[in-house]
Amino acid sequence: MKKAIPVNTPLLSGNELKYLTECIETGWISSEGPFIRRFEEQFAAYTDREHGIAVSNGSAALDIAVKALGIGAGDEVIMPAFTIISPAQSVVTAGAKPVLVDCEADTWNMDVQQIEAKITGRTKAVLVVHIYGLPVDMDPVLELCRKYSLLLIEDAAEMHGQMYKGRKCGSFGDISIFSFYPNKLITTGEGGMIVCNDEQLAERCKKLRNLAFEPKGRRFVHEEIGWNYRMTNLQAAVGLAQLEKIDDHLQRKIEIGKRYRDLLQNLTGFQLPAAKTDFAENCYWVFALVAETEQLQEETVRKLTENQIGTRPFFWCMHEQPVFQKMGLFQGESYPNAEKIARNGFYLPSGLGLANEEIEYVAQILLEK
Ligand SMILES: *Cc1c(COP(=O)(O)O)cnc(C)c1O
Repeated sequence: MKKAIPVNTPLLSGNELKYLTECIETGWISSEGPFIRRFEEQFAAYTDREHGIAVSNGSAALDIAVKALGIGAGDEVIMPAFTIISPAQSVVTAGAKPVLVDCEADTWNMDVQQIEAKITGRTKAVLVVHIYGLPVDMDPVLELCRKYSLLLIEDAAEMHGQMYKGRKCGSFGDISIFSFYPNKLITTGEGGMIVCNDEQLAERCKKLRNLAFEPKGRRFVHEEIGWNYRMTNLQAAVGLAQLEKIDDHLQRKIEIGKRYRDLLQNLTGFQLPAAKTDFAENCYWVFALVAETEQLQEETVRKLTENQIGTRPFFWCMHEQPVFQKMGLFQGESYPNAEKIARNGFYLPSGLGLANEEIEYVAQILLEK
């Protein structure tokens, strides 16, 4: 095989061009256009939520979620040590403190059994992040949030369409968020969505998305600071077309995951993603491997790269982020499972545009001694 295999190839095979053409022909290209409402309403419905608020990206959605819920100075938010930086960054920039828990060795999701010991009088919220294809075990989290009156933020950026015990991921948080980056299940190029059920909270999110313009007061007079985190009609047009295909996308992801699993079942030296847990089947947002040693991870990443196969390392732990250490956060803390997978993990090309022959080629390279 001569052609390079990118780590992600998006699939834009529906009404994207048609809807984009509509934007151009009508002149509706900003966040005022009609696709925004349609995308928000249909995405919220897909996630079993009352309200959807489209924003410029998933990280922006987290910034708004934290602020809209009134989390700020003096508050603690319990979250996983193993995650993308976005949720921790939102908590830190709001002036609150992330409090970390380790992940499970087999699912890579936060170990919810460790949450309760971290609750203090300052704990205001739990922030769960569903990782790579399996949902966090939500029932114990919901129970703790009830017991201690904690808010729940759900980062479902990787988990469109995934179910936990028959309930949609993204339907659990006081606020839940999604990303539509091109490697997510549906994409808008860049984009994100906040979903919730509370109308006042939804209005608050809309206000924060739009420079905190006062909905009733005089235009350009502001009582507080927000952001310009608006999504454009062009993005929403793509999003709506993608949403029409979301079930196909989800099925294809699962199929890609199962193909890799079958082809790699005899691969030694690596942990494959768990096919399922007691409460969910893996939807394989990405197909990820954890090498037994850091050296094997490095050698394998090199081998893939030499063969023009795209790969990415796992997230880097929050307590080992130089930026947070410089702020004096997480001093002397250790989360062994998270540290191990951060060093030894990587994922394979997993995009929706991936062909079956490409999956076979990637597996063949991995199986070569
Ligand atoms: C992708 C992702 C984000 C960030 O989304 P962007 O749209 O890239 O800002 C946040 N959380 C998780 C878990 C993600 O995978």
